[in-house]
Amino acid sequence: MLLKALVNRKNNSKLSIKLNSINKNKLFNRQDKKILKNTLYSEDFERITCSFYKYFKLTNVAEFRNNLYLKWSDFQILGRTYIASEGINAQISIPKHNFDKFDNHLRSISVLNDVKIKMGLEDNGKSFEKLIVRIKEKIVADGLKISNFDHTNIGKHLSPMEFNKAMESENSIVVDVRNFYESEVGRFDGAITTDSETFRESLPKIKNILENNKKNKILLYCTGGIRCEKASAYLKHHDFSDVNQLDGGIINYAHKVKEKKIENKFKGKNFVFDKRLGEKITEDILSNCYLCNKPSNTHTDCSFQPCHTLFIQCEDCSKKYEGCCSKECHEFSKFPKELHNKKWNLVKHNKSGKMMRPK
Ligand SMILES: [Zn+2]
Ligand SMILES: [Zn+2]
Repeated sequence: MLLKALVNRKNNSKLSIKLNSINKNKLFNRQDKKILKNTLYSEDFERITCSFYKYFKLTNVAEFRNNLYLKWSDFQILGRTYIASEGINAQISIPKHNFDKFDNHLRSISVLNDVKIKMGLEDNGKSFEKLIVRIKEKIVADGLKISNFDHTNIGKHLSPMEFNKAMESENSIVVDVRNFYESEVGRFDGAITTDSETFRESLPKIKNILENNKKNKILLYCTGGIRCEKASAYLKHHDFSDVNQLDGGIINYAHKVKEKKIENKFKGKNFVFDKRLGEKITEDILSNCYLCNKPSNTHTDCSFQPCHTLFIQCEDCSKKYEGCCSKECHEFSKFPKELHNKKWNLVKHNKSGKMMRPK
């Protein structure tokens, strides 16, 4: 039976090779998850995790995407990159020995020659297993219609030092533009946070919270700065008069406070969107285990596959429930695999509001 399935698959893949040109197969990585993971863990070189973004007008999105994918495959780069007619947003890991080649190539693309690359803080080099370069409508899903307002009229970029100083002003309000699962494990002292699950949701929420503060000094921050580019333009469009944003986001801030030995006002962990799910900035633990309420800041995906909910779990509960988010998921995970989806359908609508499925 299994052999038959394998033969069928082989024939199918032969067919698809015939149907697609050889080139097309080079433009995507369709390898099995297990193989990708094994390849990554058997590598005998180091990787550097980094990120960058840039807004610029791009006309031939597909060509740009394909050229980048081919070049980066050659450099053995892994990670997730979005390309849209409004620019590029990349989170990647690069073999150390190829970093200069990558950097030179990036700088050779005229619109990217001045791009700021942000290095990861805590890097085990295993942040990504696969290279994905995806064409999107926007590089960050903000739910805004560009024709509605001037998205180039952004806030004032503040360096980490300037941001610290501005926080001391009585008139200032610090606003975390990220989602709840990011701000709950780490944030600036006294920052306003929202319960948003997406950036799209957070923009109107922030505007409503600040409705009576249009003359205050607004200090926005996010992970690497990209969301603040949109959030600041959005607030300025809604008549906020003094909108500022942390240049390079939390990632740049954490590097600079270390390097320049300035006061660190960010406490806890910086949530990141890769396998690591967070980089520790200070030892402070601001959140609790969703199951037993003990202090914990370890995000995890429920190990019962159909559930896959993102939540916080302490070490004891992780052992007790074997990485599952609830008693039900733990119980269901003991059933034969083919029953998993059926079992999951029984509970999926009863999830507590705080837990979420990764998007
Ligand atoms: Zn617990
Ligand atoms: Zn679960």
